[in-house]
Amino acid sequence: MKSYDQIFLANRSWVQTINNVDKDYFKNLSLAQTPKYFWIGCADSRMAETVITRSQLGEFFVHRNVANLVNADDESLMAGLRYAVDYLKVKHIVVVGHYSCGGVKAAFDGLDDPYLSKWVGDIKNTLADNKQEIEAISHEDEKLNRLSELSIVKQVEKLASMDIVKDAWSRGQRLFVHGWIFNIATGELNSLKEIHPDDMIK
Ligand SMILES: [Zn+2]
Repeated sequence: MKSYDQIFLANRSWVQTINNVDKDYFKNLSLAQTPKYFWIGCADSRMAETVITRSQLGEFFVHRNVANLVNADDESLMAGLRYAVDYLKVKHIVVVGHYSCGGVKAAFDGLDDPYLSKWVGDIKNTLADNKQEIEAISHEDEKLNRLSELSIVKQVEKLASMDIVKDAWSRGQRLFVHGWIFNIATGELNSLKEIHPDDMIK
């Protein structure tokens, strides 16, 4: 873990390393962004999109919150979605959750907290809607993992029902919506769900 001062030293060292390879890298980077992906991920400190996909700056437009939730009344998310779909014209929206998610566990355990309990309400609803399936799983970790998966799929379905996304499809915009899950214990990222524009553009 870096100390506070080491953060800035590491930054300057990184700048130097890149400038040694390409002296115009940052000048070019500053001109525009043309990401193909809008990443809606968990705020978890182990979920850095550029690291786990070996990507570069400029490849992901990002919104992250606790437990990667998609709520129509979340103005920050909706502004990001609007900008990503209608201005940046991304090709893919990806909802990316993970196993061992603290937000999912808070919902599962019924954590009583003035801020977190309300925020994870949608996961509590997902739990209630899938009570039988979750109860049939014997290990608690596996119950939580399945709840993570079910919640991600639900967020993808919510996105597909939003006007910003539906309007893009009605204009013929080739926009994919995906649900991915990151396994922190193995480092692997996998796809759970994909909504293909060919099925949505009529
Ligand atoms: Zn999480």
